[in-house]
Amino acid sequence: MIIGTQTFQAPTGRTVSKACNDGCSHSDDSAQLGDPVSPPEACPKSVARGQSHPCPLQVALQARVTSETVAQQLTGIPVSPVQSKPDPATTQKLKELLPDKPFVIESGRAAELARTLGISGEQLMLELIPVAREMARPPVSEYLVGAVGRGESGNLYLGVNLEFGKQALNQTTHGEQFVVQNAMQAGEARLTSLAVSAEPCGHCRQFLNELTGAKELEILIPEKPKVQLKELLPRDFGPQDLGVTAAVLSPQAHGLSLPETDELTGQALQAANKSYSPYSQSPSGVAIELKDGSVFTGSYIENAAFNPSLSPLQAALMNVVAAKKSYDEIKRVVLVERQDGKASQDFATSAVLASIAPNAEYTVRQAKGE
Ligand SMILES: [Zn+2]
Repeated sequence: MIIGTQTFQAPTGRTVSKACNDGCSHSDDSAQLGDPVSPPEACPKSVARGQSHPCPLQVALQARVTSETVAQQLTGIPVSPVQSKPDPATTQKLKELLPDKPFVIESGRAAELARTLGISGEQLMLELIPVAREMARPPVSEYLVGAVGRGESGNLYLGVNLEFGKQALNQTTHGEQFVVQNAMQAGEARLTSLAVSAEPCGHCRQFLNELTGAKELEILIPEKPKVQLKELLPRDFGPQDLGVTAAVLSPQAHGLSLPETDELTGQALQAANKSYSPYSQSPSGVAIELKDGSVFTGSYIENAAFNPSLSPLQAALMNVVAAKKSYDEIKRVVLVERQDGKASQDFATSAVLASIAPNAEYTVRQAKGE
């Protein structure tokens, strides 16, 4: 930014350098959100010289206020554009405040947690990363991933990576995919930001590119500057290249129906009708019943690049994990998919079940579309 004859760099965090030698009384320490900064005052000495220029610190602060207003709305606490490393003491306090380690934290509770800990909403997301990581299940790599997404509702959605032993590695699900599925299951319409323990891999960048408002999705990585997804995935191939305007998290309805269904099959059918399958037109859903009678469903999430697509079984297993249940408890699984669909989840579903729940009863139902 150039003001008068001086070059001024927009501030990052609290590291605003003194850019004005014209007697400006404003220091970076006094630059707080909520200060009266509009319009910026002129520096007194520049006025006396008849070469009036506005206070650069105030101009920069004004820019910061504009970009951070949305983030601040969550807690009322200013946030830093430079992402901090999770603080072990804060993480420990957070674990004590969240003994149930929920995978969904509603907006009111998130705001309360941030206030209690004296941190911003974004810092809360970063502090939740290590909490999430502890719940990852990667038996092959033993590499723990934790992710936290924020929906436009203000709710926070946690995610972890899942690997399946004795299976092809392409059955692996990533923490970022978990977050998206979690948000979809909760009926969230849009994700605004996503905090992850490490840079999203190429697979996840492509998967996230399918989201409503994907390009503007903010990615928060500890100790790195905040970026938007479009900066991580320049010159992308996405839905727009295949003429698709719908996006993951937008409402879906496929009109699939079955002549007779029991309750579990009905839930799988419902999950299939909520799935996202704009490319193969092969919606599908899975319902899993555990030995204790609890039921978890999952909807297929397709991707323009095909390979990053999330199967309905993977989605349902994420919900089993979110409930802290074991795969050993799986008793019955029903897959519902469109009759004569171009893609099928049948073989992939039975293959994964053979690894994690070989004794489960598995049924496939073909549903008619509209
Ligand atoms: Zn990934």
